[in-house]
Amino acid sequence: MADWRHGFYKLTRAQRQSLVARQFDLSAQQEQLLNQQVDPVNQEMVENYLTSYHLPQGIAVNLVVDQQEYVVPMVTEEPSVIAAASNGAKLVAKSGGFQTTADTAMMIGQVVLTQVDNTIIDWLKQHESELLQVANQAKPSMQRRGGGAKKAQLRSLKHGWVSIDLMIDTDEAMGANSVNTMCEAVGNWLSDNGLHVLTAILSNLATQSLQTATCKINAADLVTESMSGDEVGQRIADLSELAQIDPYRATTHNKGIMNGIDAVLIATGNDWRAIESGAHAYAAIGGVYKGLSTWRFEKSQLIGSITLPLPVGIVGGSIDIVPLVKINQRIMKVNSAQQLAQVIASVGLAQNLAALRALATNGIQVGHMKLQYRSLALSVGAKPAEIDALVARLQNEQHVDHQFAIQELEQLRKELNNGRN
Ligand code: NDP
Repeated sequence: MADWRHGFYKLTRAQRQSLVARQFDLSAQQEQLLNQQVDPVNQEMVENYLTSYHLPQGIAVNLVVDQQEYVVPMVTEEPSVIAAASNGAKLVAKSGGFQTTADTAMMIGQVVLTQVDNTIIDWLKQHESELLQVANQAKPSMQRRGGGAKKAQLRSLKHGWVSIDLMIDTDEAMGANSVNTMCEAVGNWLSDNGLHVLTAILSNLATQSLQTATCKINAADLVTESMSGDEVGQRIADLSELAQIDPYRATTHNKGIMNGIDAVLIATGNDWRAIESGAHAYAAIGGVYKGLSTWRFEKSQLIGSITLPLPVGIVGGSIDIVPLVKINQRIMKVNSAQQLAQVIASVGLAQNLAALRALATNGIQVGHMKLQYRSLALSVGAKPAEIDALVARLQNEQHVDHQFAIQELEQLRKELNNGRN
């Protein structure tokens, strides 16, 4: 019997697989699946590697950002996300597409000091250029690119505690590792100077990397069979206001936005946990958690806007390692981290628009469930050739659950067999 606690990491991948198969009683077919999905690149990326877990990748279309049309690879396991992004983008494209703006593109590294008094504050202020020099000497390649540590700001946290916030330009990379290297160098230098350093690490609340996307939609393009464009536009604006005043609604509003943003982050090899944590922290930056986007309806136009921290990269991390990321960058035709952030913010707003329009009109379930039924069909064991027929049967029913889908599949198979005989 293997001891999972000792030396698991020393086993070869094949040894890990047979151990897992034995211990958890996997069938030969299941073991074969583990083996089939082994990827030599992935194997080098994480510890205790067993196999690779594949996610579906699709392409969102119709996205126009700053007058340029984009085709956007999205990786997600959730049905209806890519369709919704494409629909939202199509609606916005009718009125000229998304416009974007960004102020700065800097990461923030923190060196937190305790036991700080006024003398130390004065000393830190006098030594800002040395702090920056120490940071840049720890990662000279960033400075050579025109980036590097540019500024140090002091932020009081509580009595005696101060965060030195280093503003660092990481050029085309997200730059977490470079920032951490710089922060630790500064921390060590301050310790050598007798200061008490609590921690030295980047912050994922990247308020110096804010990206904004905006759009305008004519009321005429919002009309449905039963609602006028003005009604739909006003309801979307009201839903937006709801997400500004109610954190329960804001959380779901933002989840919808992140459906699109995460899918592009994964497709482009970016760290979606970093962006997720930053986005939600930014949503609560005023002390109350709010929707990341806002919509207002004025003079028969629906005007949308989203701002969030998007410190993304087109180099570094897994971006340089995963071959599919290179293909996706080619499909997207993005040449800079800033351009990628512009596209991602626009996808988030397109995703949000599609969700709010559905909520304001038919409700979210009508479109959503049609697409969810494909997953349900798969989960009850429908073969690829049976899926369309089973989904068509489920769509006509009012109350669909797992058991009902099983019964319908059995019925479908009976009918197909009878037809053959
Ligand atoms: P790095 O700064 O380590 O990497 C950037 C890399 O890209 C460097 O090797 C750099 O080369 C190279 N590079 C080439 N061209 C450029 C360019 N034009 N601009 C900038 N860099 C360039 O950071 P990463 O971006 O790799 O860090 C992101 C990774 O860190 C992610 O995988 C993330 O998951 C992980 N991470 C995240 C944390 C967090 O968010 N809290 C914490 C720790 C890790 P050179 O070395 O020559 O400068």
